[in-house]
Amino acid sequence: MAEKAKIATMWLGGCSGCHLSIADLHESLLDVLELAEFEFSPVLMDVKYDEVPDDIDVLIVEGGIRNEENRELAEMLREKAKFVISYGTCAAYGGIPGLGNLSTTEELIEEAYINSPSTYNDEGVIPSEDVPHLESRVRPLAEAIDVDLTLPGCPPRSDVVAEIVLALLKGEEISIPTTNLCEV
Ligand code: SF4
Repeated sequence: MAEKAKIATMWLGGCSGCHLSIADLHESLLDVLELAEFEFSPVLMDVKYDEVPDDIDVLIVEGGIRNEENRELAEMLREKAKFVISYGTCAAYGGIPGLGNLSTTEELIEEAYINSPSTYNDEGVIPSEDVPHLESRVRPLAEAIDVDLTLPGCPPRSDVVAEIVLALLKGEEISIPTTNLCEV
């Protein structure tokens, strides 16, 4: 029996909603699992970042680059993956987190930790340790690392995800629809 391909997924500056389309693969997941195994995924298993294997065949990345941790993870995973899919509108274009680019990082931090109506922070404490620093602006994944395929959608349709991943695993031509890419 041929060795199965290794798939990994990761979420960066997104809402994790794109991963629901992977969870919604339903019976298509069985077709994928005939050809591949999930080696790493924040929704499927508890794997430490330093345990990510070095030989990922297909890496599916949700979300853009919002903070230093996003960038460092993207760079680390790119080195370990042969094929990287920029997955979902946030990864492709910045998406909803990209609206943060309408404000400075200082304004965003003040709004989050001090000014928002639901915040009670009389001493105006802004955490500086153990919190990843924001980058100056949200960037699409492709501005931080090389990507091999971009699949927009918020979230991408699960049937399209299945088609693309299966085509990739079978070495077939990949075709991305030009309309109706979103699941809902
Ligand atoms: Fe969430 Fe939509 Fe961004 Fe995916 S593209 S992470 S569903 S906001």
